Formats: sequence, C-alpha cells, structure tokens
Amino acid sequence: MAMRVEAIVAGAGPAGSLAAMLLARRGWQVLLVDRGPAGRRKTCGHCLGPRAVPLLRRHGLLAAVQAIAEGFTRRLSVRADGRRLIDTPIDLDSSSVKERGGGLVVDRRRLDPLLQEAAVAAGVEYVCPGVVVEPRLGDSLGSGVRVNVRTPGRAIAVEARLLVAADGVGSGVARALGWANAACAGRRFGVSFQCAGETVPTSALPPGTVSMRLRKEGYLGLVRQNDWVHAAALLRPGVELEPALRAFASDAEWLPSPTRGCSSLAGTGPLPWHATRMAAAGCALVGDAAGYAEPFTGEGMTWALESAELLVGAIPERASERRFDTTAAARYVERWQATIGAGQRRCRWLAQALDRPWLIAGVAAACRGFPPLAGQLVRSVVCA
Ligand SMILES: Cc1cc2nc3c(=O)[nH]c(=O)nc-3n(C[C@H](O)[C@H](O)[C@H](O)COP(=O)(O)OP(=O)(O)OC[C@H]3O[C@@H](n4cnc5c(N)ncnc54)[C@H](O)[C@@H]3O)c2cc1C
Repeated sequence: MAMRVEAIVAGAGPAGSLAAMLLARRGWQVLLVDRGPAGRRKTCGHCLGPRAVPLLRRHGLLAAVQAIAEGFTRRLSVRADGRRLIDTPIDLDSSSVKERGGGLVVDRRRLDPLLQEAAVAAGVEYVCPGVVVEPRLGDSLGSGVRVNVRTPGRAIAVEARLLVAADGVGSGVARALGWANAACAGRRFGVSFQCAGETVPTSALPPGTVSMRLRKEGYLGLVRQNDWVHAAALLRPGVELEPALRAFASDAEWLPSPTRGCSSLAGTGPLPWHATRMAAAGCALVGDAAGYAEPFTGEGMTWALESAELLVGAIPERASERRFDTTAAARYVERWQATIGAGQRRCRWLAQALDRPWLIAGVAAACRGFPPLAGQLVRSVVCA
C-alpha cells in the first residue's frame, strides 16, 4: 500500500502531537503515527513546568489541560541525604514572569491522548499502533522523504515533504538516518512509579510541593497527583533499581518504593541523549528525539512542546512555500540551539553539580545564610 502526504510525524508524545496539530492548522495534510499501545505508561514525573502554561494558552489548549490536571506545583523542596537544602516557592511574582506562575501535575496517560485528539480535531490522520521505519531523504530543496509505516497486518510506503521525528530518547529515525552514534547516549536511567497518597504524610509532602531527594545513587522526585503520590527517579551509571530505591527509602520510612506496594513502574534510557544532527531539508527531530539532558528541572515536556512550535515557526507560512528546505532547517536549528539547547546545557551543568556533594553543601549553606538566593536559583534554573 502507498500513500502521499505533506508531512509525516513519527511519535505522538507532546512534541509530535503538537507539531502535527500546528502543521494541520497551517493547512498541511499530516499523518501522525505512534508505536503505541494507546494509553501506554510513560516514564515521567508528570510535572508540566511553568513555561508550558502560556504556550498551551497560545494554542488554545490550556483550558483542556487544566481540566485534566490532577495537581499543581508551587513549591520546590530539595533534600540531600535526608537533610534539607532548599525549600522555596516556584510561584513567581516578578512582573516579567508573572504569567508563568507555577506548573501543573498532569498524568501522561491523559495528557498524551488529549494532545493526540487535538491534532485529530485539527485534521491530522492518526495511526496507532504503527512504527515509522527506513527513512530516506530526498534532495537539498526538501523535495521529499520516504518512509515505511508498519502497522499490524499491513505496511504502508509513505512519501512526504517533511518527516518530523518525534520518537523520543534514542530516536530510531535519527539512528536510521546516521544522525547518532554510540557516543550520543549517556549511562543513566530514569524510572517512574506511583503509590497510594495516604501512605505519605501530608506534612512531609503537602499538595503543590515538588520534593526532590538527592543521594549518591541518583535523585528521586515526588509530587501529589490526586489520591496518588507520583515518583520519578534518575539512577546514576551502574546503579541498580531495587538497591537505589531501598537507599532512597532509608531517608524516611514513608518514602515510596516499588517493593512497598507501588504500581505503574516504567523506565527509560540511557540518558542523556543527543543527536549529532537535528535537521536537514525534508526532515527534523523534535522533542526528546533531538536531545534530552536530565529530568531534574522537569522541563522535558516543555522543551518538547517548544521544539514543535519552533519547527513550525521556521517554515514559511505561504502555501506556495510549503516545504522544509535547507533554509528552514538552518532556521530551526539556530532557534533550537539559542533556546532549548541553552536550557539543556544549563540542565547538564546542574546535573554535574549534583554529582559534587561539596558544591551542593556550599550552595545549601549560602541559601540558609541568604534565603532569597534559593528563590533566585530556582527562578534561573526552572523558569529561564
Ligand atoms: C525519570 C524522568 C522523569 C521526568 N519527569 C518529567 C517531568 O516531571 N516534567 C517534564 O516536563 N518532563 C519530564 N521528563 C521528560 C519527559 O517525559 C520527556 O521529555 C517528554 O516525554 C518528551 O516528549 P516527546 O514527545 O519528545 O517524546 P515521548 O513522550 O517519549 O514520545 C515519543 C513517542 O514516540 C513513539 N515512537 C517511538 N518510536 C517510534 C517509531 N519508530 N514510530 C512511531 N512512533 C514511535 C513512542 O511510542 C512515544 O509515544 C522526565 C523524564 C524522565 C526520564
């Protein structure tokens, strides 16, 4: 079976669904394909950061996302080896960042379908389950790209002007195009799970607080999500899941671990991940597929949404120029580097700092001596 569309999007996470929706709203004929299964678990902390709020509003999605939100984030508390380092609002009130406020807690099993439905409502054709494989690029003017889409029971040869690879960390499309090598992936792994909310005292984890706990094994983030406590952790190289979670749980007896009645365990990695190339005529990587640093700042979904916006913004609006040529590709890469790339570099420095306990202890002492510093730090890291 063969098919011709204007754009094919591989992956219907936040990046792929928003890119598909924005292209369709520009009048493009778009095919969005996800490996599935529908309603899959996704390794994520479920915290949609403050910068995502105005972005969703810009595209008319905020009210729908707020309607499915199961909590909010207004405060950040960081502890190292059980000792308090930072406890500060992320509910910002300076005029330049006023609109951003805090963030939302949104379950990925509800957010991703919501964004997929918004894409379909904009006219996108959605295929799930389906896997995009064997991408082949056309000429430097963006004349076209070919891929195969494998679905249960049929294979579709698809020709398009633009292939958007939104297939997440370790992007199969990037690897098939030769845009990644062994050095592109780090050696850390992420996990997420949840436990019943009543097992965690409200005094230890009040609603609206993101609690980050640092240890030599990695870090664990906790947030209340309706009747649940949702947890996500990053494990340092060579650290195994069960011992790491036992180590976290040794900080406080109420801390959740999968061995104590927790559910919905999901994992991903290795992290960090980045591609050696991000765009060419006829093809671009968005979201985690382009690069993902660390979950500490909780920006992954925001970067994913921002990259989709940057990609579509890099394409001329006139219907006669409806293609992704080398100029559009260069424009996208330049804007990505200046914004998301800068954010990911900042996140990587932070991750390196977290690996140095003496530095963390120094920052904590400075924050205790001058409390406004903690707020400034959070502002510059989470809201920059
Ligand atoms: C431990 C941990 C905690 C995190 N916590 C947070 C947080 O609190 N807040 C936050 O904002 N971010 C967080 N993140 C990051 C966030 O989950 C990601 O950045 C975000 O999901 C990226 O979205 P995406 O659309 O790029 O990719 P994804 O959400 O990964 O979606 C990719 C999609 O592509 C599909 N796919 C893959 N290959 C193919 C193929 N060949 N063909 C078709 N479909 C394909 C997959 O099925 C998937 O649905 C966390 C990450 C980790 C590891």
